[in-house]
Amino acid sequence: MKKLGIVTVTVLMFLGQSCNTNKGEKQENLNAEDNELNAIFPKGEKGSDEYFTGNAYPVGLVEADSIHTTLAGNVYFEPGARSNWHSHPSGQILIITDGVGYHQIEGQEIEVIKKGDVVKCPPNVRHWHGASPDVGLQQLYFIPNTEKGIVEWMEPVTDEDYNKTK
Ligand code: MN
Repeated sequence: MKKLGIVTVTVLMFLGQSCNTNKGEKQENLNAEDNELNAIFPKGEKGSDEYFTGNAYPVGLVEADSIHTTLAGNVYFEPGARSNWHSHPSGQILIITDGVGYHQIEGQEIEVIKKGDVVKCPPNVRHWHGASPDVGLQQLYFIPNTEKGIVEWMEPVTDEDYNKTK
């Protein structure tokens, strides 16, 4: 009985270890493949913690000038990353080129956004946008009429507000 007990415990420990290891490796590979988004534009530098929660990578693509008063760029949000609450004095257009994310105008439900979606946000409306918890987001942004201003940053989106989709 004693011998059997030791053997059983040893086998269980071995199975337990090998199961955990395999699961861990598989999980890692799966996530890496699932979360690999198509990057059309350069990734850029990590955005400031002052404006973003988590890892977001904004990169400017079109600078506004006196003829073209529109600003355009790309933001790659890693899973779970999002902007702070903010507003744009002349509104904003988003075009989602890959992944899954959220867009929320204050007082409205969180809207799920994904590859191929186009989102218009009216001027001077508090809102935020970012990735879903499990899949990142590639979004192009367009800010027209930059002579009126570009963005006014506000407080971070709390985990409680971010998780309200579930
Ligand atoms: Mn915005």
